[in-house]
Amino acid sequence: MPKTPVTVIGLGPMGATMAATFLEHGHPTTVWNRTAAKAAPLVEKGATLAATPAEALAASELVVISQTDYTAMYDSLKDSTHALKGRVLANLSSGSPDELRRAGDWASGHGAELLTGGIMVPPPGIGKPGSYVFYSGQEKTLDAHRETLRALGDITFVGTDVGLAMLYYQAQLYLFWSTTTAYMHALALVGSAGVSGEQFRPFGTALVSALAGDGPMGYLRIITEEVDSGLSPGADNTLRMQAVGAGHVVEAGQEAGIDTTGPTALKDLFWRAVDMGHGDGGLSSVFEAIRAPAT
Ligand code: NDP
Repeated sequence: MPKTPVTVIGLGPMGATMAATFLEHGHPTTVWNRTAAKAAPLVEKGATLAATPAEALAASELVVISQTDYTAMYDSLKDSTHALKGRVLANLSSGSPDELRRAGDWASGHGAELLTGGIMVPPPGIGKPGSYVFYSGQEKTLDAHRETLRALGDITFVGTDVGLAMLYYQAQLYLFWSTTTAYMHALALVGSAGVSGEQFRPFGTALVSALAGDGPMGYLRIITEEVDSGLSPGADNTLRMQAVGAGHVVEAGQEAGIDTTGPTALKDLFWRAVDMGHGDGGLSSVFEAIRAPAT
């Protein structure tokens, strides 16, 4: 059975790999990029280079967009809005949820439909086992294009509000960046005393694995249960004790001569939760300070 045609707009590292993946799966693939030269390797593999964004839109009902941000989409399509009618724009670019909601209105105002996606792998992971994409928008539209989009990774539908895909995506990114940055801080801290990264890695690995586990350090489960129940017992490790400890992490960084921006922000957040009255609660009561930003 012939495969459904697809258009890819944006040929940065992500979009180019997406287009190559569609080609590998046998989809007739049309591409457009502001800098047309980036299409050359894809044309060699069988892609069609559209001369204009309007031509790219005309080529396929499903138009996958992967650009730096949503401004790039408007810049690319603003002179081709007449060609948007009947198209499904699956935009997998980064943005804020409200920006995506505005883009949904913009698309429907031109007779198109926006599906939003947050893709959770870097270019080499696209279409490979473990790759997944958070999608939001109309589920029946996603279902209609499921077979094509499945080439990029597992499809995780998170809701009809087009902002949701980016809420999940940004939540995951913050978890990823804060964890990896905290690990770099740990390496710099022990490195200041001549401890190598490889000497420390087993301890970092054990801690991160334990956080996701079911043991006494299984804090993803513990915090989820406490946040959901609204109960954060301090028991034998109160938040006040941990706020004092967070201050020592800052002091250790200062003594080591490394940047302490991250630990200082953490310490300040802990103390704000203590000042809100959660000093005798547990670690999860920091959630209350996160939900109530400082004015
Ligand atoms: P970039 O974020 O660098 O995107 C580059 C693409 O955006 C190019 O096609 C570029 O065109 C286009 N672009 C940027 N500004 C404009 C504009 N004003 N008008 C027209 N086109 C524009 O590269 P990536 O491919 O890495 O990322 C794409 C998206 O995927 C981003 O939103 C990113 O956050 C997200 N993402 C990236 C991951 C990664 O590991 N790289 C992982 C998961 C998501 P030109 O070639 O002409 O400059």
